[in-house]
Amino acid sequence: MVDNDLISKDSQVQILYIFTPVLSAILTKILNQGFGNVNLLSQNLCCFDPVPPTINHLTHIAILGGGAAGFFAALSVAEHNADTQIVIYEKNAKLLQKVKVSGGGRCNVTHHCFMPYKLAQNYPRGEKLLAALFKVFQAEDTVNWFENRGVGLKTEQDGRIFPASDSSQTIIDCFIEQAKKYGIKIKLNHSIEKIKLANNQFKLQFANGELATADKVIVATGGYNNAASYQFLADLGHTIVPPVPSLFTFNDSQKQFADLSGIAVASAIVKIAGTKFENRGPLLITHWGLSGPAVIKLSAWAAEYLALQGYVFTALVNWTGIEKEEQLKKELTAFKNIHPKKKIATNQLLDIPLRLWMRICELAEIEESKIWAEMSQKQWNKLIENLYRSPFHIKGKTTFKEEFVICGGVDLNQIDIHTMESKLVKGLHFAGEVLHIDGVTGGFNFQSAWSTGWIAGKNINQS
Ligand SMILES: Cc1cc2nc3c(=O)[nH]c(=O)nc-3n(C[C@H](O)[C@H](O)[C@H](O)COP(=O)(O)OP(=O)(O)OC[C@H]3O[C@@H](n4cnc5c(N)ncnc54)[C@H](O)[C@@H]3O)c2cc1C
Repeated sequence: MVDNDLISKDSQVQILYIFTPVLSAILTKILNQGFGNVNLLSQNLCCFDPVPPTINHLTHIAILGGGAAGFFAALSVAEHNADTQIVIYEKNAKLLQKVKVSGGGRCNVTHHCFMPYKLAQNYPRGEKLLAALFKVFQAEDTVNWFENRGVGLKTEQDGRIFPASDSSQTIIDCFIEQAKKYGIKIKLNHSIEKIKLANNQFKLQFANGELATADKVIVATGGYNNAASYQFLADLGHTIVPPVPSLFTFNDSQKQFADLSGIAVASAIVKIAGTKFENRGPLLITHWGLSGPAVIKLSAWAAEYLALQGYVFTALVNWTGIEKEEQLKKELTAFKNIHPKKKIATNQLLDIPLRLWMRICELAEIEESKIWAEMSQKQWNKLIENLYRSPFHIKGKTTFKEEFVICGGVDLNQIDIHTMESKLVKGLHFAGEVLHIDGVTGGFNFQSAWSTGWIAGKNINQS
């Protein structure tokens, strides 16, 4: 069954136009007032019947996926291209579910980093493509986009940008309102199963048995945790980089610091032993292991490597944040020379919280009563070792609930960076996490969804 309602109103109008100029004027008036039918489908989210902007031939655009990238792409199509009829097909009964839960319910929409090349450096996968895309639509454009549509934003000290309301619902409301304004049609419970191209038209087959046609398609189905879910894209010839999770915390098999859970260090350096992967930032000790931005960002950069290791590896923590070991030794020697009579274990240094410092001294076999002047060479060596490269034997990972993404997806070599169009299938565009793009935490993942969606939508008629 072909989804004829995508084309019927428009074609009828065209036929009438050809034969009856007077009637056409009346029709135009009616159309300009809008059909205005609104069907409540779920959770106050609506299916808006389209209000055709003109009565010329409409290009039918199918957006697959009603998430962040899908909505942004749909709105970009509508804003840049007259004469289009846009339908968003969403697998679930609700739209924008990730936006809803994102950022702990606050939705970290982007990051205050307005230099395209610098912004792109926050993407372990996709940096090159995004460096080009951000010249066209970057974080500053995101801020303007939302503010121009009445969504106030605020920037936090660490650069993350949120809606001023501190509620992701504000973002959802904005998208729904804009979609309504442009007459974008929404079809829930439509999970795409197969896409075929015949005679320059896409035939879409959904899991619920429905069929539809479209002139152009934007795939914005997000990331999947299994390769099989990308099959409908592989069937079109696309290479799928195997998906693995990104943005997670590390499970310490020995739970050696579990009793210090909750203690944080402002600037630590975490390395993965035997590799060049390392990251600096705040580090949090948890009851299961290590967390905090330093670890979560490191998990992103090393996502593919860690998956290959089965998440069994050694993490080396430099609690001091001092890059060079020699520099650390110099600073401790200077302190020792000035304060030879001070007890070591009970006087923490280098901004390390006291309980953590005491544990490090304990591991270095430094008794509580020991003063700096009496420290043995062996204790000195062990203290340096435990401050500079404290080993954690990691087995497994834990999902970071604030934000997690999939690394993997459609190979970027098969995408035209100016249009987000497939190089293999003309008229098929991509946006969002379905691509082999992922960023670190801080609003970067939504930014890539906005940028890819905006560019795909703007250029939908280029091919
Ligand atoms: C808990 C959590 C919090 C997050 N917080 C943040 C944050 O604060 N800031 C940030 O930058 N990033 C955040 N992220 C990451 C961000 O949400 C994603 O990178 C972003 O949503 C990707 O957008 P997308 O539209 O590509 O994919 P999605 O948002 O996943 O949307 C894809 C849509 O397609 C639908 N779909 C899937 N398969 C099909 C199909 N076969 N047919 C039709 N429809 C289909 C899905 O149901 C979904 O609605 C968070 C992620 C999680 C999980």
